[in-house]
Amino acid sequence: MDMFLGHFTEKSRVEQTWLSELFLSVRDKLLPVLAGITGGLPVDEVALSVVSRLQGCFSSDSLPLSFRCVCVSELLSRQRTACFSSLTMSTSQHRVLTREAEQALPNHKGLSRANLLLIGWLSTGEDGWRVSDSSGSVHCELLEPETSWINQPMLFPTWNYIPHNPPGKGGQEAGYLELIASPIHLTPDAVTFDPGGPLSEALGVRETARWLGEKRSGGALVGVSGEVCTVSPLLVIAGKRFFCFSLRERDFTVPILVMDSRSVPWRPCVFVGRHVCVSALRACSLRGWAGHRVLSVTSQSRLVARSLAHNQPRTAVTEEKETETERSQQLSQQESLAHVQTLRSDEQASSADEPTIAADVEADALPREEPPAGPSASAACAVKIKRSKIISYKGVISAVTDQEAGLYVIDGKLGLCLAYQPLHWNSGLRPGAEVELQHVHFLFRPSPHGLPTMLCACLRSSVRVTAYSPVAAVGPASSSSHGELPRFLLEKNLGVSEYLWLHYYSNALQQRLCPRWVCESRVWVVASRLLECLCVHDQGREPRDIYREMLQEPHLCPLNEYRVCGAGCEIPSISDLCEWLKEKCWSSLSLSALLPPSAAGLTRAELNPLLSWSFRTWSLQDQPKVALLVGILETSPVTATLQLRDQTGAIDCVLVETVEAGSQRAADNTAWLGCLVCVRRCTLVAERFLKTNFPSWEHLNEEKYITNKLCRVYLQVCVSDLHILSPSTAMGLLLAESGNKGPRAITAHGEKRSEPGSRGNEGAGEKATDKERESEGTSDGGMEGVGVKGPEEKRTSVGEPGRRRSIGKRMREEEEKGSSESELMKTIEKSGGGDTKRRRTGDQEIPAGHPEQGIVGREAGATSDPCVSLAFRVETKQGVALRNHQLLSGATPGLSLSFVTKVTCLGKAQRWDEDPRNGPLQVTECNGPHTQLELQFISSAVRWFPLLQPGSVYRLMALHTEDVSVLSVKTESVKGGVKSHGDPSLVVQSRWRIHTLAHTPLTTQIVPSETQNIKTVSQILHSSSCPEIVSFYGVISQRITLKEEQGKPPAIQSLIKTKGVCVETDLRFRLTIEDAEVSTPSIQVYLDLTHNPFIPGLLPGATVVLHAFQRSVSRKGNVYCRFLPISCVTVTALGSGDSDSSRHQQPPPMMLLGEWARPEEGQHCMLGRVKAHVTCVLHLKMQWTCSLCGSIYKQDGCSRTFPSCESSTAVFQAEAKVAVEDGTAEAHVWFCSETVPALLLLGATEWEGLQWRMRVRGHLRLYARGRDMVSDMNPEDSLVQYLCVLCSSSSICRELTLTCQLRSQKQEPQLRRMKRGEREFLTKFPSPLQLACTHTTPLTHTL
Ligand SMILES: [Zn+2]
Ligand SMILES: [Zn+2]
Repeated sequence: MDMFLGHFTEKSRVEQTWLSELFLSVRDKLLPVLAGITGGLPVDEVALSVVSRLQGCFSSDSLPLSFRCVCVSELLSRQRTACFSSLTMSTSQHRVLTREAEQALPNHKGLSRANLLLIGWLSTGEDGWRVSDSSGSVHCELLEPETSWINQPMLFPTWNYIPHNPPGKGGQEAGYLELIASPIHLTPDAVTFDPGGPLSEALGVRETARWLGEKRSGGALVGVSGEVCTVSPLLVIAGKRFFCFSLRERDFTVPILVMDSRSVPWRPCVFVGRHVCVSALRACSLRGWAGHRVLSVTSQSRLVARSLAHNQPRTAVTEEKETETERSQQLSQQESLAHVQTLRSDEQASSADEPTIAADVEADALPREEPPAGPSASAACAVKIKRSKIISYKGVISAVTDQEAGLYVIDGKLGLCLAYQPLHWNSGLRPGAEVELQHVHFLFRPSPHGLPTMLCACLRSSVRVTAYSPVAAVGPASSSSHGELPRFLLEKNLGVSEYLWLHYYSNALQQRLCPRWVCESRVWVVASRLLECLCVHDQGREPRDIYREMLQEPHLCPLNEYRVCGAGCEIPSISDLCEWLKEKCWSSLSLSALLPPSAAGLTRAELNPLLSWSFRTWSLQDQPKVALLVGILETSPVTATLQLRDQTGAIDCVLVETVEAGSQRAADNTAWLGCLVCVRRCTLVAERFLKTNFPSWEHLNEEKYITNKLCRVYLQVCVSDLHILSPSTAMGLLLAESGNKGPRAITAHGEKRSEPGSRGNEGAGEKATDKERESEGTSDGGMEGVGVKGPEEKRTSVGEPGRRRSIGKRMREEEEKGSSESELMKTIEKSGGGDTKRRRTGDQEIPAGHPEQGIVGREAGATSDPCVSLAFRVETKQGVALRNHQLLSGATPGLSLSFVTKVTCLGKAQRWDEDPRNGPLQVTECNGPHTQLELQFISSAVRWFPLLQPGSVYRLMALHTEDVSVLSVKTESVKGGVKSHGDPSLVVQSRWRIHTLAHTPLTTQIVPSETQNIKTVSQILHSSSCPEIVSFYGVISQRITLKEEQGKPPAIQSLIKTKGVCVETDLRFRLTIEDAEVSTPSIQVYLDLTHNPFIPGLLPGATVVLHAFQRSVSRKGNVYCRFLPISCVTVTALGSGDSDSSRHQQPPPMMLLGEWARPEEGQHCMLGRVKAHVTCVLHLKMQWTCSLCGSIYKQDGCSRTFPSCESSTAVFQAEAKVAVEDGTAEAHVWFCSETVPALLLLGATEWEGLQWRMRVRGHLRLYARGRDMVSDMNPEDSLVQYLCVLCSSSSICRELTLTCQLRSQKQEPQLRRMKRGEREFLTKFPSPLQLACTHTTPLTHTL
């Protein structure tokens, strides 16, 4: 030390102290590293050399006293923020630089300046270049390194230190260095470079290319010098690191393979445009690139870079000499931008022209329709294939979209995708960094989910940072967990469009599902399965061949072509779906379309109820924008419905399953709860509820008469159209069971799908449970607000041990090993080996419903805990309604939703050591007498309602208890000889769970009980022995809202609101239910759902089971049914989605009046056609009616006086009653406003004229007296006279075919006076059949 300080005796005391610190640092940190390599240098010499280099930096004798020596370990452990240190750059220079960068990137701040003196040993390691000292080593990035720097002690004058944020992620180091200025050698001898070979004898590229072409054998070594034209990224295959580059001279190129471990670190020294000289190369042929020879670096090879030429400013002369390709490699940022803008406008122009220009005229856009690959793909995705262009570009990174996924933004306008290169380090690609991209693919609009212009790098592209960013992002770095996406890209050989789609939806799904249902690290799995469902990714894509991709001319890689996918691949969030549906619901509303043709004659009271309810359906697969829906199936205790849900919202679902031969039944499997599914086909339904006050038909376009409007949107889904992305634990068990038992069991649950051409389906049949499936962590039943939590579940399920390993499994294994690149590239290599068969089948190997570790990252139910269970079969089910339950459960008094099911217990309560979930029914569970029991579901327990179906067998589970008495019921005691009536009851606790049990021989042995007696509509109508309370099924043919009842107590509304229960107030309607087997008989069912939650799916065309309705017979003898508080409606089959399904378009049957009049003899139907002769017009009434009060309306206004009516709207109404007979019986037929003109043979203009003439009179009434028509009004009135003549004319009394509806019949027989000879009789005649004509068909007379 003294000897060292002796050189600086003239320095001040402060300087001496500083120098002694420097000396100690050199002695303790640098010297120990040098000792092993250089054989030990005297410390004084090195320290002096440091001082002289420092002084060299400042070109003065002064010492940088403000700088402090820092060692590597200190940097790594203490420096938590990014910093910049420079010996040469002044503070003001640095400030100018950072200010410029901060202006360009508003959310970024310049790196803070730290005056740190870094001295170290520059070496190369596995991951690249490193700076080391005795305390540690740190990765470093260099701009234009020289091979002569390797293994040298260096002084680093200007550098950035970038700590990783968040630190330590994935075993990363704490940070890395960006060496801005070239390091300065500390040892003078190293500067003179020993070429170690005859570098001066290096051949030119042209000679070397010829030499290589001669296929000379032997181990001759050759040196070559030339300009680098392409450089591949560093690849790792089977643990071997290598890279390739080519040298070019005019049209000649020489490929050079660098595989020697000592030469691989040359990678940063070789970049496009640099002149390099490489010695001792050997010619060899590549196994993976047959028929081609390359030069390979040997252990004696040396590389010398001559970068001087490259850095010289270009002159006009040199530019002229350069060839086209060479010029493109000399880039400036402005030129790059201009070039890209030209390309972009070309593309825009070409895409604008596309509709007019024929496909074959356009050279680089080859539109071709893809064969429909699946249900969704067929919907809309007209795929167009485009060719990419290859360009070079220089720009500044403006944003890092997703570093793990390799997505960046350059210059604010261009997307950069590096995912086709193996991503390993990518340090330095920070916002603000200047990058040079060589040989990247220019793509225009490859995806709607990204910037329109994308630059994509393949294995031939090189991405080099040419200036490090002087800024750092403000705030925490956005963390993504998309590191798996590039791996999936390689594995599946995805196109850019698919990759960008995958990335976009990984993000979208993360927002919608994480962390509640899916853990972040697995979200990409969900996204990739969705991609498979969409089937957009190419099955016939060429496998990647790395050598060909890197070296061959013309260039061939997956980025050559890309598909411009139109709309149709969107997956809306549930809330977006609801919004969109609501918007469509109202935009599709046409009030006039809801009204019958007679609308013009309807008064306010008649018109408005017709508008009060309507619905509209759309099928998902017909929507151009929506491809799939994704969500978790859960049941809601608030609405007592099944819902598809994500974090943005929930939508009700009517779920049915296909049983056999296309028939459907209501879904009953609780295993669906908690499943993450995608819906590929469904009906989207919007029901509209309108409160209107239109005075008449003419006012329909005036919005102000709509006082209230509400819509209900929901889905109608068949389980066969659900695709499980991640099963619930129960579903996993079920699938494992069905996997063992063959397809039968799956079919029972609607899982088997075999649509041709739908690739995603093929895996559905083999939903295997891999042995390692564990920790599914699903809380069954989607316990909203219940929150059953238990210890983490670790379970090995009963999968088939010998099942072949799926790719999914292999991927998981790789994941466990850590995502080393060797595996990545193995995939490429394998696929490059032409092993396409394996890949294709591999696509199917991922079972669609493959249980996956940790996808559904929710709380797990305990399995090791003891629990008790009770197996039962549901016999009947009550509807959910607001009921008073304060006495029962100790819950808050008042109304709460509840329902009761009557069940048959199959045996006694069982104790289990482990939760059996929905495992098969055990013999012990059904040993014992079958007892009847009432299960009461109150408040949150009503969530089980949608899946409890009569006839199905369930297991009720009470967890965390060994006490079987919680589930056993004491039969109620007989008190004083009076036995309490009814079955014993049990209140289902909110924490209990219910599992549907699969059909096994045990469950089918159970004799069905008598209580479940579902009749048909015909049986209800005609059976005289029907009980008062009936259950039946049928198809809804019509739904009519009933008129509002006046004076309804509104008190219930406030109660409903506070409970948060979705109830439509005043929801009273009439359903016309037709027999499901024969379409003719139908029954009217009156429902009042004022106290019930909304029941989705009650639409015309749907098959429903109506449980416990009251059968009544009207005074007129018509059978109808009424809703009772215990009644329940279940949708068991969905309509065709079309309200006018074919069965309703059949013409009504031809009837004889005689058989219609006596229903006990013939058919009993509401609508029929009759061919009859009009015998006479019994009466004719025409009137202008006040629309508001129904009084007669004359020209000057409403005729009502007390109180006076100010109405200004009136409607014209006409009514006629005629007697007809067809030889079998007589009938009275009523004609309304729209059928009267046809009866009276009046044309449209005559009818209008008649109405106009009626305006003055207000009304007119004619009736038959004897054979004449008479009127109360002035008989001299010409209109009266005309109509009287018309009505009695023979042209009116003619034969007609009438479509008629049965009117309510008069019961009392008519008394008629008969005269026979001299005597008069008073005879009772049965009253004639009363019919209402809906349509007339004039009989064509054929002579
Ligand atoms: Zn390429
Ligand atoms: Zn009036």
